[in-house]
Amino acid sequence: MKFIDLRSDTVTELTKDMRKSMYDADVGDDVYGDDLTTNELERYAAKLVGKESAIFVPSGTFGNQLSLLTHCNKGDEVILGEDCHIVCHEVGAAAVIAGVQLRTLKSNNGELSPMDIETTIRKEEDIHYPNTALICIENAHSNGRVISLENMAEIRQIADKYHLPIHLDGARLFNAATYLDVDVKEVTKNVDSVMFCLSKGLCAPIGSILAGNNEFINKARKYRKLMGGGLRQSGVIAAAGLVALKDMRDNLKSDHEKALYLAKELATIPEVSILTNNLHINMVYFKPSNIDTSKLVAYLLDKGIKICDVEDGLMRFVTHYWITKENIDYVIHSMKEFLACQ
Ligand SMILES: *Cc1c(COP(=O)(O)O)cnc(C)c1O
Repeated sequence: MKFIDLRSDTVTELTKDMRKSMYDADVGDDVYGDDLTTNELERYAAKLVGKESAIFVPSGTFGNQLSLLTHCNKGDEVILGEDCHIVCHEVGAAAVIAGVQLRTLKSNNGELSPMDIETTIRKEEDIHYPNTALICIENAHSNGRVISLENMAEIRQIADKYHLPIHLDGARLFNAATYLDVDVKEVTKNVDSVMFCLSKGLCAPIGSILAGNNEFINKARKYRKLMGGGLRQSGVIAAAGLVALKDMRDNLKSDHEKALYLAKELATIPEVSILTNNLHINMVYFKPSNIDTSKLVAYLLDKGIKICDVEDGLMRFVTHYWITKENIDYVIHSMKEFLACQ
């Protein structure tokens, strides 16, 4: 049975073109630098986001953690938002792998205050102080919002004043560029390194990219080996990544439109209140009231629809390439059916 899966855009299975490109991929041992397809993907990805170099990594978490390990020394301090993925959803890896201290700031719905960052940076040498080594930003934020380019530019100014690098967790980087209707380089121009996922809305089966300058990526290549991420004939998956970057970015606009349609339809249900301020990309967050959500999850599953249960009082539906408008109509119909007989 094919499910209508609204849990995340990570559930996107690969397209026919991707399967074909994987079958035909030129491969070699990538640890020797011999995998032509992986090399092509890394070159293409670097150019796309306006960086000198890029490296293919197995996952977004891997890319973020590799970036922390490459930018920082053990005991260094990293400034970032308390609600970002690196803090909340990466299993505490920053403490285990890079051995850094995460100095979290309150975020304004995902956006960091440049003033708070400046206050938090360790300025003078003191025998007690850790060294501030890095600032991290997330865009698009996984709360569904896109951070403004003005905010990113202001953070760049502060970073430059104190000679600090910035890492961008851009798991959904192309969703951010799509929402802002700018070339993706506008989103990456004010950061030193960027991670983005091939395996979310872009439908590739596996993989993420970390991009930065040559020196940074050369260093990251050694640390990727340390982390067990030196892959062999990775061209079979890099091939799908190339299709993702070349052919799939344009579809994100339609994913966003489907999310707006979904939100509009959900809003006709009295038990649902949509977080309209967080409706920038392919995610619809809403607060359910008077809904037995675990029963709803089970009811919809029975109807062939997969959703996640509430987290912190909120539910999240995610649209993607394999969700149609008709699917959305059916989901809304099924929810109303459930609520009528609840
Ligand atoms: C999904 C995600 C990641 C991690 O990617 P994985 O491939 O799941 O490890 C990192 N940051 C953000 C904002 C994400 O949404």
